[in-house]
This record gives sequence, structure tokens and C-alpha cells, in this order.
Amino acid sequence: MSEYNIGTKCVQAGYTPGNGEPRQIPIIQSTTFKYETSEAMGRLFDLEENGYFYSRLQNPTNDLVAAKIAALEGGTAGMLTSSGQAANFFALFNICECGSHIVASSSIYGGTFNLISVTMAKMGIEVTFISPDAASDELDAAFKENTRAVFGETIANPALTVLDIEKFADAAHRHGVPLIVDNTFPTPVNCRPIEWGADIVTHSTTKYMDGHGSAVGGAIVDSGAFDWTAYPDKYPGLCTPDESYHGIVYAEKFGKGGAFITKCTAQLMRDLGCIQSPQSAFLLNLGLESLHVRMAKHVENGQAIAEYLEQHPKVSHVSFPGLPSNPYNALSKKYMPKGGCGVVSFELAGGRSAALEFMKRLKLAAIETHVADARTCCLNPATSTHRQMTDEQLIEAGIPAGLVRMSCGLEDKEDLIADLSQALG
Ligand SMILES: *Cc1c(COP(=O)(O)O)cnc(C)c1O
Repeated sequence: MSEYNIGTKCVQAGYTPGNGEPRQIPIIQSTTFKYETSEAMGRLFDLEENGYFYSRLQNPTNDLVAAKIAALEGGTAGMLTSSGQAANFFALFNICECGSHIVASSSIYGGTFNLISVTMAKMGIEVTFISPDAASDELDAAFKENTRAVFGETIANPALTVLDIEKFADAAHRHGVPLIVDNTFPTPVNCRPIEWGADIVTHSTTKYMDGHGSAVGGAIVDSGAFDWTAYPDKYPGLCTPDESYHGIVYAEKFGKGGAFITKCTAQLMRDLGCIQSPQSAFLLNLGLESLHVRMAKHVENGQAIAEYLEQHPKVSHVSFPGLPSNPYNALSKKYMPKGGCGVVSFELAGGRSAALEFMKRLKLAAIETHVADARTCCLNPATSTHRQMTDEQLIEAGIPAGLVRMSCGLEDKEDLIADLSQALG
């Protein structure tokens, strides 16, 4: 599949049926798998052979879809998780342990910020947050002797900052650690972080990949480029024997291309069990089949709405990396020449009350705490997700009370603009 264009991979990568086999991927709705002999099953438990024994660790439907996502990202291996949160946790925890340190962009999804700064802190993993705009020397200063990973989002949710992937990858590699990029918003249709030096890519497949608001899920893809064996002291989990699998060494047995995902499946999925259901994987694959068609339309609608809002007298500010006025426009053009995504945020000049009134009047756009769906939706953080904060705290956090985040769906842009126009009054 590697010779095909991205749209062809969206439709067909990951699964090539043989003669008389189902054209669509089968949903293997089975928790367990049958073997003729205990020896045959034993070889699976020893990781001597590839196969399935229990759907808490691996399921064939999931693996077909993970293979498609790995092909889309240009990676060597992939796996599905039960959510985007699980994907980011697994990607980090696969190479971090108590006493490790992470360098992360400060402009990331709130759930991931909490995961790293609160929950992983309880596990003894420290973090230094750094502005995505930091210069290389500032980035260098964030590293410590126990740093094990760098983390950022291609387009951050909800701040819509664009990560300078090459700059972050170079810094990570100067310090001998991998760069993990959450590529949820642009999807591999619009940006492939691995081509710019990222080592591991994660997704909340709940967003554009599913695209229809039908199933929560996540994915992890390994580029296969990071050489764990060059840093055996930093990554003992990959470079020293795993006693729970008769002393195999993942980096030796599965090589650069397979070690990370195999360890993540064999240890983290085994012990923590955040697997996606095969039903959800099937729904995700339906979404992937049209991802390339849908992303172009999300970008087109986002651009049209951002341009419309930018000239509207009741709108004081619009944030969309595709606007020439946006500080991330140059980075966006470099990393995402086809555009980024369909999420636009804007501030109403009338503040909190204007935002409330505007949202009430909308007819097509629904009020939801979701993004990246076929149906346009919007959110006023001040009166929903961030309602415990005062107006002053909101300004400090860069989320003024009049801010609205709008996720442009797949409707006709003329209708969306007409809806905005009547709601703005
Ligand atoms: C939504 C989101 C997540 C979390 O994903 P879930 O599927 O909701 O667990 C992580 N990263 C980004 C960028 C997101 O938008």
C-alpha cells in the first residue's frame, strides 16, 4: 500500500481480502480464540508467534484498522485504544516510569494536560511545560537528565496553535528522546508528523477519524525510526529482558519497527486493558474510508467561516491558522499545505452575554462539548467547560468570556454562514 496516495489508503489500506472473503472488514466479536494444542497457545504467550488469544490484548478487527492508520501515518506499526486519553497515556507510559520527566507543549488538550500534570504526577512522573513558540535554546533548557519524551499537538485543541514539528523533533533528538505528536486535529490526510521527524503519533479517533460522533477511540502509531538500543539506560523497558515474557528484549526481538507497539500491547494492554471494542473499530474504519473526502470539506467550511467572521463588526477576534492574519499561518502552510481542520474560535465583542445570546439563536450549529463531527457544533467555554473560572481568570487562561469554539461540519457553507449571520444579528 505504501506506493498509493493518501485517499486510496483511506479507502483500502490495512485489509486486502482473499478469494471469497468478505469485502468489508469482519467484526470479530469474540473475547477468545480456539487452539488445537496447549503448545500452540503457549507460543503466543511467549510472543514466539503472532496470533490472538484474548480480546483484552488484541483483536483481529482492531488490528486491521490499526494497520490502516499506521499506513496513513507512514509508520511501521499501530494499535487501537479505547480512547484518545488511553492512547496518550499508553504512548507516554510505555517509555516513562516513576522518576522520569516529560517535556510537553503547554498548548495541548485539557484532558491531556490533566493526565500529565495531575495523574502521571501521582505516578512519580514529572513534566516541564514549554510554550509551543519557544526558541530552540529555551527548549534545550527544559530537558533534564531523566527526560524520556517530548509531547505536543500538531494543531492544539482548543488553542489552535500549530506545533513546529521539526523544531520539537530536533530538540528531542539532540537530547536522545523521541517526539510524540498528537495528530488528532489535522489527521494524516492533512499532516503526517513522521515525515517531519516525529517518532510516535497518537490520535483521538473519536474526532475526525470517526467523524460521525459514533464511537470513542484512540490510536498509537510508531514511526519505527527511533533507535531505543542507542539509549539502553533510558529505556530499560525496551532494552532489557522482560521477565513477564521469559526474558525477551523487545528492541532486539522486534527491532526498531516493532518494539514499541509490541511492548505497549504485551504489557500495558495486558495489565491495563484499555482496548477498543471491535464494533467501535468497525465504525472507525467506516469513518476512515471517507476521511480524505471529509477533511477537505471541513477545511473549506472552516476557512469560509473564519473569513466571514473576521470581517464581521460584532466579532473582535478570529483564530484559525488558515487566515493570513493568524500568527501560525506560515507554520500551517508549511506543515499543512491542504489546510488543517475545521475548528475556528472567535471572540464576540459583546463578551459573555453576547456569546450566550448568539449561541441561543443558532439553528444549525448545536451546543456540544465535542469537535470534529459531521454536524457543526459550538461551545462557549466560559459558560460550560470553564464555568468555575472568573472573567479575569478566563482572560489569563486565554479563554475570554466571549470566546466561542466552532467546529465546522460538513453542511453547505452558505447555510452555515446564513445561520451565523442571523445569530449575530
Ligand atoms: C479529544 C482529544 C483527546 C482525548 O480523546 P478522547 O477520545 O476524548 O479520550 C486527546 N487529544 C486531542 C487533541 C483531543 O482533541
